[in-house]
Amino acid sequence: MSLTERLQAELDDIAAAGLTRRRRVLASPCGRTAVVDGRELINFASNDYLGLAGDPALAAAFAHGARQWGTGSGASHLLGGHLEPHEKLETELAAFTGFARALTFSTGYLANLAVTPTLAGRGAAVFADKLNHASLIDAMQLAKANGAAIHRYPHADLSALERLLAASAAASKLIVSDTVFSMDGDLAPLPQLLELAERYDAWLILDDAHGFGVLGENGRGSLAHCGLPAAERILLMGTLGKAAGVGGAFVAGSETAIDYLLQKGRAYIFTTAAPPAVACALSHSLQRIAAGDDLRQRLFAHIARLQDGAAGLPWRLLPSATAIQPLIVGGNAAAVALSDALWQRGLWAPAIRPPTVPAGTARLRLSLSAAHTTDDIDKLLAALRELS
Ligand SMILES: *Cc1c(COP(=O)(O)O)cnc(C)c1O
Repeated sequence: MSLTERLQAELDDIAAAGLTRRRRVLASPCGRTAVVDGRELINFASNDYLGLAGDPALAAAFAHGARQWGTGSGASHLLGGHLEPHEKLETELAAFTGFARALTFSTGYLANLAVTPTLAGRGAAVFADKLNHASLIDAMQLAKANGAAIHRYPHADLSALERLLAASAAASKLIVSDTVFSMDGDLAPLPQLLELAERYDAWLILDDAHGFGVLGENGRGSLAHCGLPAAERILLMGTLGKAAGVGGAFVAGSETAIDYLLQKGRAYIFTTAAPPAVACALSHSLQRIAAGDDLRQRLFAHIARLQDGAAGLPWRLLPSATAIQPLIVGGNAAAVALSDALWQRGLWAPAIRPPTVPAGTARLRLSLSAAHTTDDIDKLLAALRELS
């Protein structure tokens, strides 16, 4: 077999298992609806939880930023690509999250790669929730390549985590977890994780991709939601392409921890800084998030309406108090069939299958947004009832 034939054989296996992934081309901006193949669908597939991706004021800040600062940053942050809008955004993110300092990244994937492998090398041990996001898993594999021991504990299982921590003689320990789990929507036991981190003198690395902007007072995120402080041992990653509606990510932490990432984080150092206009749009987005109780109230009203309405369906929603509302279908084919049937009715609710989620738990991942209307939620519920 040639090299290409070997790849093709694997692709054929994926197709035979019904697991081929496919992209839809949108002929419309991210928003409450999406135009695909000439049809307008109500969009339950985006992570634009506050509807800010389509906010004209953000687009204006982006355009103004591009006119003032050009399109590219031209270099990495350490080699001349760190412009005033980047510096301003860092300061604002630190103030907003309550941490001493923050660094920005062009994606959340990259931000996660900059944290765990930088803090965990030889002699360190990483303790990671089994349902962590793929980017945290890849970061953990890099830490392993750097000589760290890695341990995965069953999802949210605090006693298993404590047993692993107690048995470890590592000089430096890192507990790594999503705050809101991206395929289940549930919240990690954050107060208990912080308690364990204190008891075993470990870092606590948290990925707040789905909490930032949505949860807590002023949308400050999952720590605020749980009433937890910006403790020195916490490094908080947040993404800026979901609720913040633009793109990129940040890591916030203590002065020393952030300086360490700046000095040693390869995924921070060896990449071009994001376009400055992105930072301009994000500064505007942060203000909108902070003043966004109207958006959050609408989002949480939609969540409650969906949960009430779904109570009578044959499929159950996972218990989630966040914008991610997974409807468990079970089989891969059944989940895809339900998603297709909704699509025919003008509703875009993507099916998520293994290996992204455990076998037998294929689901519709319903993402709600402040951009939705009450009528959108009712249409989704009516279609689900009709198809049950
Ligand atoms: C989306 C996501 C990321 C990656 O962020 P990007 O900015 O999209 O690269 C990381 N962690 C979690 C939990 C996510 O959901």
